[in-house]
Parts: sequence; C-alpha cells; structure tokens
Amino acid sequence: MTLQDISDRIAKAEEAAGRAAGDTTLIAVSKVQPNERVAAVLEAGHRVFGENRVQEAAGKWPDFRERFDGIELHLIGPLQTNKARQAMELAQAIHTLDRPKLAKTIARLAQEMGQCPKLFVQVNTGEEEQKAGVLPAEADDFIASCRDMDLTLEGLMCIPPVEEEPSLHFALLAKIAERNGLKGLSMGMSGDFERAIALGATHVRVGSAIFGERTAG
Ligand SMILES: *Cc1c(COP(=O)(O)O)cnc(C)c1O
Repeated sequence: MTLQDISDRIAKAEEAAGRAAGDTTLIAVSKVQPNERVAAVLEAGHRVFGENRVQEAAGKWPDFRERFDGIELHLIGPLQTNKARQAMELAQAIHTLDRPKLAKTIARLAQEMGQCPKLFVQVNTGEEEQKAGVLPAEADDFIASCRDMDLTLEGLMCIPPVEEEPSLHFALLAKIAERNGLKGLSMGMSGDFERAIALGATHVRVGSAIFGERTAG
C-alpha cells in the first residue's frame, strides 16, 4: 500500500459513512520504521505522524523538522510521568492520558510551559489487564477530574483487543465521548480504520499499511 492508497480508502470510507471529505486525520505511525521510509512519506507531502516512544521520537524528529516544515507529531504510546515534559516539548498531541498522576503532571507543566499538546484520554474498552487506559466505567469521572485541573481534552482513544470485533469497541468509545461532549475519536489502525471511520473516528493511526511491516517493536 502507498500513502495515496490509504488516503483513497479513507476518502471512500468517509463518503460511505456520509461524512465530509477530510473529516478524518491520518496519523502515519512511523515507530521503528527506517528513516528512508519516513522521509519518503514526508516527501510525498504527509505531515502528521505517530510515535509510541518518547525516546525514539526525540532521536529522529528534530532532524526531520529541520528538513520539513509543518510536522505534527502524535504520541500514541504509554507515557511515564518523568517523560511528560519531553513529550510535551516534542509532540502536538498525546493520545495516552490514562491516570490521575499523569494528568496532574501535565496540568502543572502546561501552566509552567504556557502550552499544552492536544490531549486524548485512553480508554481500555476491552478491560484487558495488561493494557493501559481508564476502564469504561471510570471514564466519566476521570474526564471530569481532568477538566477540574483545567486540562482541555480533545477526545478519547482506544486500542481494541486483537481477537475481538473492533467495531464494538469503536461504538463504545464513541458513546463515552458523546455523553462527555468530546469530539475527538482516535481509533482504527491498519486492519480496521475503515470500520473506525464508519463509527466516527476523527483520527486513524495507520502504520504497517503505509510503511510496510515493522521488523521490531
Ligand atoms: C503501532 C500502533 C499503531 C499502528 O498499528 P498498525 O497495525 O501498524 O497500523 C496504532 N496505534 C498504536 C497505539 C500503535 O502502537
């Protein structure tokens, strides 16, 4: 698949869902991809990328930013509190706000730095023990507590369990977002982004379908 193929499929899915063209932001997930592949996608004109490790992002994106204007970086992997400052300096969006301690740290740093990336709360829709994210039953309270800290939330994010039909999880995420007045829905990856768009995704996170299989990570 090329970037153009994926963009075409997104446009078709938007149309099929009766949504406006361009409603969905494509986040090209570049984690552990060789720099030549990332550069090729930049050269094709794409500017929105996702990384799941702060360390890795800090290693490669400053150089790309020297070469290309207008890059928007989304952090989509788990964030340790002690890396929050670095993440907020590097990324324009963080998709993995998932616990009170992290929310407090981000709120404090946002005051101090006078800026804050767009924030998505990660919801563990499958209630998987090993997975990050707030439980669906705790989402409303967590969202309210973030707002009490003056954090502005963009929306919600989920990673459905691999062995389940993702649409059920996308629908659940959309429902939680709607009742909390949140517009952003970060959901859908290489194997299911069209289904996510049908259920209202505003951000799809697509890696291997654009860049090819990852050799690690
Ligand atoms: C790696 C990753 C993706 C992209 O996965 P693909 O299946 O390669 O499209 C999306 N979201 C998150 C959180 C990821 O870690």
